[in-house]
Amino acid sequence: MHIQSTPDTFTKLAQVSDATTFEPAGDQPQTERARRPYQSRSLAECVTNVATPRGPMPIMKTMVTTACERNCNYCPFRAGRGKTKRVTFTPDELASAFDTLQRAGSARGMFLSSGIIKGSVTTQDKIIDTAEIVRKRYGYRGYMHLKIMPGIERDQLARLMQLADRVSVNLEGPSQTRVNALAPKKDFNLELLSMLQMADAIRRENPHRKMPSLATQFVVGAVGDTDVEIMSLNQRLYRQLRLARVYFSAFHPVLQTPFENVPAVDLQRETRLYQSSFLLRDYGWDVEELSFAPGGNLRLDVDPKRAWADENLVNAPIELMTADRERLLRVPGIGPVSADAILNARRRGRLTDLAQLRKLNIHAPEQAAPYILLDGRRPSTQLRLF
Ligand code: SF4
Repeated sequence: MHIQSTPDTFTKLAQVSDATTFEPAGDQPQTERARRPYQSRSLAECVTNVATPRGPMPIMKTMVTTACERNCNYCPFRAGRGKTKRVTFTPDELASAFDTLQRAGSARGMFLSSGIIKGSVTTQDKIIDTAEIVRKRYGYRGYMHLKIMPGIERDQLARLMQLADRVSVNLEGPSQTRVNALAPKKDFNLELLSMLQMADAIRRENPHRKMPSLATQFVVGAVGDTDVEIMSLNQRLYRQLRLARVYFSAFHPVLQTPFENVPAVDLQRETRLYQSSFLLRDYGWDVEELSFAPGGNLRLDVDPKRAWADENLVNAPIELMTADRERLLRVPGIGPVSADAILNARRRGRLTDLAQLRKLNIHAPEQAAPYILLDGRRPSTQLRLF
């Protein structure tokens, strides 16, 4: 007689870690891939290495359940999709597995999402219960990124925010119309955007408590959405709701979904969206300053900072000896660290050639050369060797 054994928690976790590549958690989402199929050899196979400013961090990135009653048109977990292996954990099971992983040194953080079963409120309670067990029973104080289910109650969100370091809800698209096409059972304003608004309101009501950062994600390019729509909303999210991070996921079709024949979106589009999003968030740019092609998408052939510089700086270069920090940040090849290095260096003496910039750890000063003056002169792109 053939007896099929029940998969253990770690085998289930490894199966789900593959599925969570759809949910970015770190600074380089494209690198977030599960390792290899779990064969009960190593707990490390249940974690995903997520890029952070302090280097790679192994995270237990998982879902309470891969079953879902909703029908988002692009999603492998949508209701009725036969190819999806459904895996469900209890809060106790997940919390205990995480405790084992983090005590073994295999995981240094948790990212927890879920498909929706028996409504958002019930599903959110399972995420909250898991996080509470991890925090209270196991005394874990480290990093937790917890997903907000669409349309949950305010009390639930407030509790979630007491437990998490980061909370996020996926907006999916930049407007109600786009979300209708992507996820027919989701309401953009009432269930998605309102969650971010409520989360920021809770933060403002608690100015002296440590509160989690906010993030969101867009599925890009499946339903005619344009980059100008996405970036306009992106700017509002940073300025009005103080989001820490916006993720973009270039659409790629999944078999046995209504979008299986919709063409995949060029990954370069995702790259341009990230570059533009960082200009809005970290460089003080306005969306109007980004260079959009006639159809409303960012140019794929050139990064947005260079596109702006080609239009605005070639004939009006920036003098590095006198420009303020904001102007320095307009120059391709000069980021926040390089701008500060230039400000410091010019207090000590004149900057007259590109080799001096290289000594300031500006790795490719020739990229900046067409757009700058050094002590009144256009730099020679012939770098000195010594
Ligand atoms: S709610 Fe939509 S995106 Fe989320 S798991 Fe269910 S079908 Fe997928």
